[in-house]
Amino acid sequence: MPGNREPLDQLPVTRLRGVGPQLEQKLAKIHIHTVQDVLFHLPLRYLDRTRITPIGALQPHGDVVVEGVIRATSIALGRRRSLVSKVQDNTGTLTLRFFHFSSGQQANLRTGTRIRCYGEVRPGASGLEMVHPEYQLLDDTRPPPLADTLTPVYPATEGLTQQRLRGIVGQALTFLDDGSLPELVPADLAADCPLIHCGISLADALRYLHQPPPKAPLEVLAAGQHPAQQRLSFEELLAHHLSLLRLRQQMRLQQAPALPLATELQQRFLAQLSFTLTAAQQRVSADVIGDLAQPYPMLRLLQGDVGSGKTVVAALAALCAVGSGYQAAVMAPTEILAEQHRANFEAWLTPLGIRIAWLTGRIKGKAREMQMAAIADGSAQLVVGTHALFQDEVQFHKLGLTVIDEQHRFGVHQRLALRHKGSGLVPHQLIMTATPIPRTLAMSAYADLDLSVIDELPPGRTPVNTVAVSHLRRGDVIERVRNACAEGCQAYWVCTLIEESDVLEAQAAEATAAELHLMLPGVSIGLVHGRLKPAEKEQVMRAFKAGDIDLLVATTVIEVGVDVPNASLMVIENPERLGLAQLHQLRGRVGRGQRESHCVLLYGNLLSRQSKERIRILRETSDGFVIAEKDLELRGPGEVLGTRQTGAMQLRIADLQRDAELLPEVKAAAVRLLARQPQNAALLIRRWLGENEKFAQA
Ligand code: ADP
Ligand code: MG
Repeated sequence: MPGNREPLDQLPVTRLRGVGPQLEQKLAKIHIHTVQDVLFHLPLRYLDRTRITPIGALQPHGDVVVEGVIRATSIALGRRRSLVSKVQDNTGTLTLRFFHFSSGQQANLRTGTRIRCYGEVRPGASGLEMVHPEYQLLDDTRPPPLADTLTPVYPATEGLTQQRLRGIVGQALTFLDDGSLPELVPADLAADCPLIHCGISLADALRYLHQPPPKAPLEVLAAGQHPAQQRLSFEELLAHHLSLLRLRQQMRLQQAPALPLATELQQRFLAQLSFTLTAAQQRVSADVIGDLAQPYPMLRLLQGDVGSGKTVVAALAALCAVGSGYQAAVMAPTEILAEQHRANFEAWLTPLGIRIAWLTGRIKGKAREMQMAAIADGSAQLVVGTHALFQDEVQFHKLGLTVIDEQHRFGVHQRLALRHKGSGLVPHQLIMTATPIPRTLAMSAYADLDLSVIDELPPGRTPVNTVAVSHLRRGDVIERVRNACAEGCQAYWVCTLIEESDVLEAQAAEATAAELHLMLPGVSIGLVHGRLKPAEKEQVMRAFKAGDIDLLVATTVIEVGVDVPNASLMVIENPERLGLAQLHQLRGRVGRGQRESHCVLLYGNLLSRQSKERIRILRETSDGFVIAEKDLELRGPGEVLGTRQTGAMQLRIADLQRDAELLPEVKAAAVRLLARQPQNAALLIRRWLGENEKFAQA
């Protein structure tokens, strides 16, 4: 079908030979829908099947091709029945072993037959073996040619063989021959960028990576440092950056109400606080207040570690809106967090004569109607609530600002939905997160947001004392919980699981709660996990907050949670299963009160070097940013950002950390491309972001 010039991102995979509905479904599982997706599905690694290795020269764990004559085939009984063939060439003998085999296969592997095998060599009971090799029986005529390129190994899924994938990719590559995937990075732009100056076109880069020549530098490829790989990463990063620049341009074209802050109102507010702002709070407040005075929408991310005091900055922003005759909406991801905000804002703002409405999913009937009416007629100047505020029937009178707390719990869609709540003018947005995102990442992944960081905690906080204890001393840890509760403290016990399964995690937490019930009579124990209905979860959290529950057994759902100053002990089971940043967030639930707080990391007995390193970092620092940087080093950016949750950028090929050095050039190239070939910018965005781009434009 090549030659029809249909854009490859519109051409469904089913247009390739042999791809029917069943295969289509399997491919969809690995996010392949179009011919272009096939081309961008790059190998994980490569095998060298371009030459035959003499059996006598085999090394364990090599992936090789051998050729020889079958000397014997028999069924070996042992712990597991297997079919065994001995293959010999003139340098030695190798064992082939099959645990799954048919009688036909057994008959085919006749003594005296020539065979060529592809597979990994392993040490076996009697010398080297290949288990379940791919093989070809050779007849007396000429042997089939060997591969003339390295053999790619692709990310696959169940029921989708490498051979099948290679065939599909081979077909897709023929579409490159007639220019169906046009070069969108113009030569004059490339000339300015040393990295793409190496002259590889997009099509050549793809051909190279799918079918590298026999002499290709495998180590360079494994490190992702080959010019062909960099060429692709560069283009992908360029496309993302262009889409963010475009979004920013569009934002500048939108109009927002200018909301200058009245000095007198600000002074009254600050004067009645029981504390003075830290230098960091003053700095970021100035950023926010400066933005709000502009007639185009602010889109600012406010980052600050747990407890760094973001709420008071949000309150200052709200004052800007209210003081200018507009409404402000403050939204939290859970009822309890919303309630905490409500308590804070009422304490701070009601004395200034500001009227506050309150809307969550739990407010029903008459009460709901009243709140909605106050929001719609403008008698409520500030609205605090949960995602209930996103709903269509909530009409604001004059919304000037939305503040979204704990951003990663809200998707990009929801965030954008609120932008439409202002009538005519687009409201400003302040997004607050306690997830510390390393600066390099934040700049690129959130280039659509301006960034302010509170990098200082209010004075007088004592860091949580963190210790690591082996599960062999679980009894001691339980004893410690008993003592803490007897002294009137409250405690968390956090259960973690490797699998991302709500069900299993809930079961583990239930089992732990049952065990602790037995061990700790007299301690009142509550349980929260992701399988509870939100209302049930709320109820338990509320009881814990009120002090009716001493010990809260929980899964990681409490990660972004409530402020319970009386909780001063946290036990985290199997901390090695969580990322550093996640552990840090969990640990931030304690250490909020007067008492010295403790976090016990109850680890399993087999700790990898990496796990030890992570525990060491946690013990040594309580600085969320240091921890995030380390997390990035240890795990890579995808996981640190929790990209799926944030709805932030999803990269196919580039890797923000590995390719960080490309970013300055990407930024420069984006500006030049927009100036010189804006039509290519749009095409690049569509090529790499496809449907995702819709959200960015919403
Ligand atoms: P977070 O950034 O985690 O949302 P909060 O805004 O909830 O933090 O603040 C945590 C606690 O610190 C609150 O009790 C708040 O009143 C208090 N706080 C905030 N700023 C200061 C400050 N400058 N000095 C002392 N305490 C402060
Ligand atoms: Mg907060």
